[in-house]
Amino acid sequence: MKIEGTIPCIVCKTPLQNIEYELNDNSKVEIHPMNGLHFASSGHYGSTIFDPMGTGEKLDVAICDKCVMTNLDIVRGTGKESLEVFKELFEES
Ligand SMILES: [Zn+2]
Repeated sequence: MKIEGTIPCIVCKTPLQNIEYELNDNSKVEIHPMNGLHFASSGHYGSTIFDPMGTGEKLDVAICDKCVMTNLDIVRGTGKESLEVFKELFEES
């Protein structure tokens, strides 16, 4: 079953269409933003706010594509190079 709702970008608060659905193995995808990316954290040592130590708890965050591209200079990761081709689509006019 597909459920549609919204999740806001954590940076600019723009509401993004979110789709929840079940996979063939019956696991559920609860955060799948359109025009944005989903980031999840199970916490870690070093955070002063979230380190649940194996309880299975996690935090989910969505960031819109525009905020990722606007802040591309501080984005890290092996996929960053593939974003360069989209830079001119998100440049301020
Ligand atoms: Zn945003």
